[in-house]
Amino acid sequence: MRKPIIAGNWKMYKTIPEAKELVKGLVTKLAGLDGVEVVFCPPFTALSTVKELLQGTGHGLGAQDLYWKEQGAFTGEVSPLMLKDVGCDYVIIGHSERREHFGETDQTVNQKAKAALAHGIKPIICVGESLAQREAGETSALIKGQTEKALAEIAPSELPKVVIAYEPIWAIGTGRSSTAKDANEVIGLIRKTIAGMYGHDLAEQVRIQYGGSVKPENVKEYMEQPEIDGALVGGASLEVESFFRIVNY
Ligand code: 13P
Repeated sequence: MRKPIIAGNWKMYKTIPEAKELVKGLVTKLAGLDGVEVVFCPPFTALSTVKELLQGTGHGLGAQDLYWKEQGAFTGEVSPLMLKDVGCDYVIIGHSERREHFGETDQTVNQKAKAALAHGIKPIICVGESLAQREAGETSALIKGQTEKALAEIAPSELPKVVIAYEPIWAIGTGRSSTAKDANEVIGLIRKTIAGMYGHDLAEQVRIQYGGSVKPENVKEYMEQPEIDGALVGGASLEVESFFRIVNY
């Protein structure tokens, strides 16, 4: 019922020529692929180039952040209007790297998610616990809190456009992935949290991804889990062959 969604978060990698090479290679290999929604999330500088290459392919374009104002004296920021202008379908919000290094909070995540939706851009909202939080047994409470705060004041009619990415921080870029069973359990908790806010039927429509050291070798295990609807892929989305194999799981 929920269409799987696999997104490549390129983070701060790829110049324009490198982006072209990667996307051209993938567009060719992915031609005819059905049943999985694929989203490319390059850095801001490559959005326009990638958009052109994705024309007519059915694949989505996503940014990695946004600011919630439409315009103004906010040096260095990029607005939802601008993301819409360049053709973004999605925007990643609240990635743990932004929470850790750039002062992102549950409140800014919420403001950004609302702004994205107000402009017809679908947010991919990231939640996840640190290793210390996991070891202290705080995972459930933390994930529930992050989910509730991120979705505060989002209208039920907008909810089906929201994608959540569960990314345990200790699994990001470490090669140490969560077991599929553990990830499924936390993602089930996220869905239960959403059901508590919006009811069971709407919660069943929300797609929830797993992210953290997803590779061609382990993607199938995650995708087979009943609660997991896709993947948010970092490192392995930077090469044609590995991202192709992930999407083609
Ligand atoms: P890796 O796939 O490199 O672990 O990164 C995951 C991630 O942070 C995607 O947003």
